Amino acid sequence: MSDKFDVIVIGSGPAGYVAAIRAAQLGLKTACIEKWKDDKGKGVNGGTCLNVGCIPSKALLDSSHKYHDAKAALGGHGISTGDVAIDVPTMIARKEKVVKQMSGGIGGLFKANKVTSLYGSGKLLAGRKVEFVANDGETQVLEAENVILASGSVPVSIPMAPVDGDVIVDSTGALEFQEVPKRLGVIGAGVIGLELGSVWSRLGSEVVCLEAMDDFLAIMDQQIAKETKKILTKQGLDIRLSCRVTATEVKGKEVEVSYTDKEGNEQKAVFDKLIVCVGRRPFTEGLLAADSGVNLDERGSIYVNDLCSTNAPGVWAIGDVVRGPMLAHKGSEEGVMVAERIAGQKPLINYDIIPNVIYTHPEVASVGRTEEQVKADGEDYNVGTFPFVAVGRAVAADEADGMVKMIADAKTDRVLGCHIVGPSASDLVQQVAIAMEFGTTAEDIGMTVFGHPTFSEAVKEAALAVNGHAIHMPNRKKRKK
Ligand code: FAD
Ligand code: AMP
Repeated sequence: MSDKFDVIVIGSGPAGYVAAIRAAQLGLKTACIEKWKDDKGKGVNGGTCLNVGCIPSKALLDSSHKYHDAKAALGGHGISTGDVAIDVPTMIARKEKVVKQMSGGIGGLFKANKVTSLYGSGKLLAGRKVEFVANDGETQVLEAENVILASGSVPVSIPMAPVDGDVIVDSTGALEFQEVPKRLGVIGAGVIGLELGSVWSRLGSEVVCLEAMDDFLAIMDQQIAKETKKILTKQGLDIRLSCRVTATEVKGKEVEVSYTDKEGNEQKAVFDKLIVCVGRRPFTEGLLAADSGVNLDERGSIYVNDLCSTNAPGVWAIGDVVRGPMLAHKGSEEGVMVAERIAGQKPLINYDIIPNVIYTHPEVASVGRTEEQVKADGEDYNVGTFPFVAVGRAVAADEADGMVKMIADAKTDRVLGCHIVGPSASDLVQQVAIAMEFGTTAEDIGMTVFGHPTFSEAVKEAALAVNGHAIHMPNRKKRKK
C-alpha cells in the first residue's frame, strides 16, 4: 500500500464513510480507517449508526410494532390472529442480519468508489501524519494532504448507575436483551430512552422512565412535547419527570434504584433491567497525539469553525465528535461539505434546517425553531395547527393521534418551524424542510396541491391554518383575505 493519500478519514460512521465516498468521487486518493470489530474480531464499517444506533434500534422498533399490532390492533380490523407470541432471540437475530447487510454495503460502496478501507485504529500525529495500527498489530505511518476526524461518540456513563452489561446496560446492551424484562427502568426520557423504552414496552415490559428535567423533551416544541407525553403515557410508558437518580444497587438479578422526586423526597424502585440513556459524549480517546495541534472545547468536542476546520491546518472534524446535534444526517452533510471544500468547491451547511426525529409510535419530528425559541427571539409569528383526527387517511389507518404545528413569520409568512407528532412524521417533516430550504411561506405550502387521502394533508392544513384558511377544521385565527 502506498502510504501517501490526498485524504485520510478516521472513523467510518455516517460522517466518515460519507466523507470518504464523496472525496473519492471528486478524484481524491482516499483512505478510511475504522477500528470497530464484530464479535468474531473482523473489522466492520458503519460506526454507531449502523452497528448499535439508528439502524438496529429501528429494526427492533419495527419488529415490536408489528408484534403490538398483531396482539392489540388487528382485532379491530376483523383480523383474528389467535395467540400471538414473541420469540426474542429471532427478533434480535433479524436485527443483526439487518445490521450486517447495511454495514457490509459500505464495503461495497468503498470498493466501487476506490476508497482504501483500512481496519485498525488511527492516531493523528503532527504534520498531517496518521499512525495506523492494523487489527493484526502491524503499525505504519501514513501521510495525507488532509485528514478528516470522524471518531463519533459513546454513551455517557454516570457513577450512580455503573453499566455491568447484565442488569444495568447502556443503549447498546438494550439492543441485545434475549428475553423481555418484566420490569424495565430507563434513566433519561430523551430520544434514545423513549425509543428503547417503547420497544420493550410493546413487547410486554412495565417501563418506568426516570427523567431529571422538569419539562418533557425540553428542547422540543412544548405543545408537541405535551401531546407526545399524553400519547406515550396512554400506551403504558410511565414517564416520571423531575426524578433524579441518586444511587443504584444490583441485588442478584434485579436492581434497586434510588431517586429524588419532584418534591425532593427519596424514592425507590426495583427493576429487572435498567437502561442508562443519559446522552452521548464525543469520543477522542487514542485519536490525537499530544502535538497534533487539534484543540478540544470545554465539552470535550473537537473544536471546529463553521466549515469544520480544526486548529491544525489541513485537519477537519465532523459528526458527533464536533459541536451540534448528535444526528447521523448532520454528520453526513458535514462529510460532504468537507470533502467538497478539500476539492476546492464552496458548499455550506444550513444548520438552521436539520430535521430531528424520535421514532416512537407515532413518530415525533421537528425542523426549524420551536414556538418557545421564536418567542425568546422576540419575533412576531403566527401558528397553525391541525390534528390528525381530521385527516381521512389517518382515521382510515387508525393513526389519528397527534397533530402538525407550523410556525411562520407574522410579516413575511416565511415558515420558521414545523413540529409534528403523528403517523409518518419523519417523512412529513422532510417536506417542510425542503420548503424551508427554498424560503417558502405558509401560504405557498397551503397553495400546493397535496394528494388525497394522505397523511401529508395535515401539513397543508396546518399551513393554511397559519393564516386562518384551514378547510377541514374551524379556524381559531381571524381569516386573512
Ligand atoms: P459514529 O457513528 O460514532 O462513528 C465513529 C466511528 O469512528 C466508530 O465506528 C468508531 O469505531 C470509529 N473510531 C473512533 N476512533 C477511532 C480511531 N482512533 N481509529 C479508527 N476508528 C475510530 N441518529 C439519527 O440521526 N437518527 C436516529 O434514528 C438515531 N438513532 C440512534 C439510536 C441509538 C440507540 C443511538 C445510540 C444513536 C442514534 N443516533 C441516531 C445517533 C447516530 O448514531 C450518531 O449521530 C451517528 O452515528 C454519528 O456518526 P459519526 O460518524 O459522527 O460517529
Ligand atoms: P438525550 O440527551 O436526548 O439522550 O437525553 C438524555 C436525558 O437524560 C436528558 O433528558 C437528561 O435530563 C436525562 N438525565 C441525565 N442524568 C440523569 C439522572 N441522573 N437521572 C435522570 N435523568 C437524567
